Amino acid sequence: MALVNLYSDTQTRPTSAMRTAMAEAEVGDEQRFEDPQVTELCSRVAALLGMEAAVFLPSGTMCNEIAFRLHIRPGGDEAILHRRSHPIIAEAGGPAAFAGAMMYPLDTPLGMFTGEDVRRALRRPGDRYAPRSRLVCVEQTTNMSGGRVWPLEQLRDVVEAARDAGLRLHMDGARLMNAVVASGVPAAEMTRGFDTAWLDFTKGLGAPLGAVLAGSAELIDEAWRYKQMLGGALRQAGIVAAGALYALDHHVDRLAEDHARARRLAEGLAALPGVTIDPSTVETNIVIFEHDDPGGLCAKLEAHEVRMGAVGPRQVRAVTHLDVDDDGIQRALDALERVSAR
Ligand SMILES: *Cc1c(COP(=O)(O)O)cnc(C)c1O
Repeated sequence: MALVNLYSDTQTRPTSAMRTAMAEAEVGDEQRFEDPQVTELCSRVAALLGMEAAVFLPSGTMCNEIAFRLHIRPGGDEAILHRRSHPIIAEAGGPAAFAGAMMYPLDTPLGMFTGEDVRRALRRPGDRYAPRSRLVCVEQTTNMSGGRVWPLEQLRDVVEAARDAGLRLHMDGARLMNAVVASGVPAAEMTRGFDTAWLDFTKGLGAPLGAVLAGSAELIDEAWRYKQMLGGALRQAGIVAAGALYALDHHVDRLAEDHARARRLAEGLAALPGVTIDPSTVETNIVIFEHDDPGGLCAKLEAHEVRMGAVGPRQVRAVTHLDVDDDGIQRALDALERVSAR
């Protein structure tokens, strides 16, 4: 029996239709703007996010690194972001190493914060003892806080607070399309007021790799310098961009199925002994629940061909995606029941 892999939505394999689109793609030299697939992908993502321009990059991590480098100036600039956000927990210190960013980690519920939280974090302008507040970063959806969707009013509130203080804004949209599908709010409304935002194609959208960073023409022009510097300037990248274009056409609306399956998994989990979760908090494709022994539970599930991730001393994460169907959810629930009963 095949593994039910709920470890992450990065675990998807390209479908045969996506592979066909990739195999048939007309390609060219990406860094000379001669790759038709990359050119089309960038203009579609720019339009989708309501931005002037966009650049294709190998990964979401590189989008964040380059965005930090664009916004943070040398000399003690500070970024305000949630303490469980990707640039803090999973980028090998890149924002410090590559951009020289000072981080102001916010410890607010659900991975989200408010305009008031931003105002409280601001440094006094001209204070030579303090870092200089410069950037606010938002993660839509909140990965390690359970795939929560920032409500539009809350995004607007944060944008207003940042703008009032003259700060830049960056959106890590690794799962932005999950937020769009779950809320019905268009992506360009969510990114309004942000200087940069990006989409990942290797998460729920199901492409093997690739991400697109969008912003003003001026910022994206500057982003190209850093893309070159990091070795992210590519050649016949259309073979990959074709997969991303395929995903935009065929894998966005279906995210709703992942969300329904995540909710069903959460409802089943809530009924099990030793598990704490409120299924009503599951808005998208990420399910994080509390358990006394996350490592032990994951090992036992693995023996039943079900994979989840221990993500904290008491937390297990399960993520739905296009390689997990209704039967997979049922098998995960059956396995959970068996290992919990013992
Ligand atoms: C996965 C992820 C990233 C990094 O994307 P990669 O394409 O894996 O480099 C950044 N931010 C969030 C919220 C993510 O989930």
